[in-house]
Amino acid sequence: MKIYDVIIIGAGPAGLTAAIYCGRAKLSTKLIEQSQPGGQVNLTEEVENFPGVFKTSSKNLIDIILKQVNDLDKVEMEEFKEVSDIKYDNNNFEVRGQSLDGKDFSSKSKALIIASGAQPKKLGLKGEEDFTGKGVSYCAVCDAPFFKDKDVVLIGGGDTAIDEALYLAKFARKVKVIHRRDALRASGILQERIKSNPQIELILDSVAVEILGKKTVEKIRVRNVKTNKETEVDCNGVFIFVGYSPNTKFLEGLLELNEEKYIITNEEMATAKKGIFACGDCRKRPFRQIVTACAEGAIAAHSAEQYLSQNNV
Ligand SMILES: Cc1cc2nc3c(=O)[nH]c(=O)nc-3n(C[C@H](O)[C@H](O)[C@H](O)COP(=O)(O)OP(=O)(O)OC[C@H]3O[C@@H](n4cnc5c(N)ncnc54)[C@H](O)[C@@H]3O)c2cc1C
Repeated sequence: MKIYDVIIIGAGPAGLTAAIYCGRAKLSTKLIEQSQPGGQVNLTEEVENFPGVFKTSSKNLIDIILKQVNDLDKVEMEEFKEVSDIKYDNNNFEVRGQSLDGKDFSSKSKALIIASGAQPKKLGLKGEEDFTGKGVSYCAVCDAPFFKDKDVVLIGGGDTAIDEALYLAKFARKVKVIHRRDALRASGILQERIKSNPQIELILDSVAVEILGKKTVEKIRVRNVKTNKETEVDCNGVFIFVGYSPNTKFLEGLLELNEEKYIITNEEMATAKKGIFACGDCRKRPFRQIVTACAEGAIAAHSAEQYLSQNNV
């Protein structure tokens, strides 16, 4: 079996960028993706904040990055293969899993870059999936400008949700925050800010039931948990902030993960396990964006290259 210099797991922005840097460093590289390339970028319609690419469809942005990857003869990409297990033996990593058609696969490398990303937690509301990218969003920093002077609803009550509500209020005409308890969970200072912002309205003791609309979001049905009464709230967008889950289940027992299951690395993207690097949203980090994922992908590739040359593996 061929032993690659590097195997990269995940072809989102972090993994694709790591592949560009590995390929350009002439490292034989295999990029394994469980779905199609692009990662969470596939969940949004348009990207406006990636430097150098003015307002583009997410598909176009992914296509441009893929073109750069495919141009490198040292990089091989395999799609629709999900990694489920990693073993370390004789100074090599063996990456194993199943392809979409249920067949087992296995590949070996001297170093590994984990770029398996994360996913926003879904609520499982009726209409949520149908309207994702058509009014339903999981990222205010990314999508708030599309809701300038419009009415939006935000679901959540923790610090992140309230931070995002304050950000949304810079764009939207009105932000209605739906929270299931009678008080927000967010810290005091954030609560003060939200209460003093005239554009933000709290709908407490309430849960969302269904997102409604024709082609895009038009309203949301909400139930008061104390009275059980249901009402419809008009809105152009629904932002859901009930947490994120990293795609790291296959790494449990192999790598050090924090309490939320994010991978812990140093600034060089190195994990505590020699030869394994991690980058992007699967890593514990403060700001989850395409540009930061790409930057970390570049750093992880550089660190993997240094590891291979310094350790002569
Ligand atoms: C709705 C939405 C809109 C967004 N809009 C923007 C925006 O406009 N601008 C911006 O900068 N950021 C935006 N973001 C954030 C941005 O998309 C992420 O920060 C970025 O995609 C993270 O890149 P990543 O490569 O680390 O992870 P991901 O994009 O999550 O990619 C990880 C990849 O790894 C694959 N994978 C996972 N597990 C395995 C496995 N076991 N085997 C093989 N493959 C695996 C996944 O299928 C996925 O393709 C948005 C996020 C969301 C959810």
